[in-house]
Amino acid sequence: MERWEQFQGVYIHTPFCLRKCLYCDFPSYAGFPETVRQEYVDALCREIAFRSQERELPVADGATIYFGGGTPTVLTVDQIGQTVACLKRYGWWRNPAEATIEANPGTVDLEKLRVLRQLGFERISLGVQSLQDRELCALGRIHTAEQAVQAIEEAKQAGFRRISADLMSGIPCQTVRSFRNTLDRILQLNLSHVSVYSLILEEGTTLERLVASGQVELPDEETAYLMYEMTTDRLERAGLTRYEISNYAVPGEESFHNKVYWHYEPYAAFGAGACAFTGNGRRTNTADVPEYIAGWKAGELEAKIETEFNHKCAEPVMNSGFVPDAPLWETEELDRKTQISETMIMGLRMTEGVDLHKMQQRFGIDVLAYYREALQSLPEPQMLECVDGHLRLTPYGMRYGNRVFEIFV
Ligand code: SF4
Repeated sequence: MERWEQFQGVYIHTPFCLRKCLYCDFPSYAGFPETVRQEYVDALCREIAFRSQERELPVADGATIYFGGGTPTVLTVDQIGQTVACLKRYGWWRNPAEATIEANPGTVDLEKLRVLRQLGFERISLGVQSLQDRELCALGRIHTAEQAVQAIEEAKQAGFRRISADLMSGIPCQTVRSFRNTLDRILQLNLSHVSVYSLILEEGTTLERLVASGQVELPDEETAYLMYEMTTDRLERAGLTRYEISNYAVPGEESFHNKVYWHYEPYAAFGAGACAFTGNGRRTNTADVPEYIAGWKAGELEAKIETEFNHKCAEPVMNSGFVPDAPLWETEELDRKTQISETMIMGLRMTEGVDLHKMQQRFGIDVLAYYREALQSLPEPQMLECVDGHLRLTPYGMRYGNRVFEIFV
């Protein structure tokens, strides 16, 4: 069976945060009390159980696990353990090649990190963003720079060998110098993976309003460009190779889970706002937390069982004959043209580019012939190159990725 015929990854969404960051438009919410979080985890387990019954695709042995958010570490270790046990029980957690949990440095301590390791997570992705308190404050983050460094140190002590830090450039009041200081301090911590994203002003966020009203100013274009250049230069000199537009890793330490997305391979997804992909369609769950909980609660829990980890796990909902209401999620079918286009756009994000032989195997097309006209309309020919059977962005093209992607739409 080909990789694109099985779920290669499993994503679990936690839509809670302690406080909403000023720039954030992800499906995550602050202010839900502990009781709602527990109801959410119970609902999540019911969805996991239900989806195992109607499994659209087989789960590949070694399929990656990714707990993202929101902030998964807002949940208690018992709640995270309950979810892990449920995934194991229903065959979604099968010797994962990688099990990652995202964490906000303001929500973990050594003890919690140790339990997360015991539960089976061996990779942690910490949302550091910056190591300058002024910038963290401008973003509305809940942690300080010192707390972020401490979280990294404690993750190491807890036994996480694979630690990733998310950083951000283009933050209000950030300068080339302060950004360089953040990069250098991160590099001193010897992480195997670093992601650096440019701040994007998302519509409807508090930060967008502050910038629009002139109360907050963003770094100008030249500063943003210098930061962009500095990122690749400094990280690569330190042995972290760029393997995707915003991602750098020690060779072999790339995020396997994210590569599932970029290789356009199927993945399952559970939780409010989560979006699953089967290769020829998507299913997006409602992002409305109360609606999600109420919808899955309709298949009332019949009993609780103890699992091997001694965490409680929801009994299968399918035994009750429960059929969830359609509004709990929306589905979208993807025609062949869209699948080809999306495979190109996702694949070109990686420095390895799109494997032309695999495109032939998967879609029966010769990419260079299929996109002949589109390739001729490329804004500048030096943005793309064809090397060793791969079509890929050049380092110059990486800077203008979106302009290249447009020709494949
Ligand atoms: S911690 Fe992440 S998901 Fe939560 S509000 Fe901040 S940016 Fe959004």
